[in-house]
Amino acid sequence: MALPTRIALEIVTPDRALVREEVDELQLPGADGYLGVLPGHTPLLATLKVGELWYRTGPETHHLAVAGGFVEVLPDRVTVLAQIAERAQDIDVARAEAARRRAEERLARPAQELDFERARVAMMKSLIRLQVATRARTRV
Ligand code: ATP
Repeated sequence: MALPTRIALEIVTPDRALVREEVDELQLPGADGYLGVLPGHTPLLATLKVGELWYRTGPETHHLAVAGGFVEVLPDRVTVLAQIAERAQDIDVARAEAARRRAEERLARPAQELDFERARVAMMKSLIRLQVATRARTRV
């Protein structure tokens, strides 16, 4: 059987469908590390961590910030069910910067009742949003 040459990529969150596109390749933040996917990839299911997802269609690369959820990889199809996902151009940089400052302050002065993991995830999400927002401006 011929190998597929493209991947039908779908990215949805509980609120909306963000992406439905035929793409050439993508990379996403799997729980065990960043995972690169080309057409014909071995089927797998994985959980997503907080990180950057990019996909390429021809010469155009698109970047999203994602946080949590699941991905199903098939040879010709990738379905991402993300808890949270934002396209680079939709990220509110001032909001992410404020969230980063709040998380930084919490982590710098750990109170006894501090939920460390929650503060760490908030910090990660804000840093990833800031990183991905830069991609929208530089079109890397
Ligand atoms: P904040 O502390 O600023 O509310 P958060 O990390 O707690 O940020 P989430 O719970 O991750 O926010 O997300 C709630 C909703 O707000 C989601 O729909 C998410 O896409 C959106 N969102 C959060 N931060 C941003 C941002 N900087 N730019 C665009 N959308 C954002």
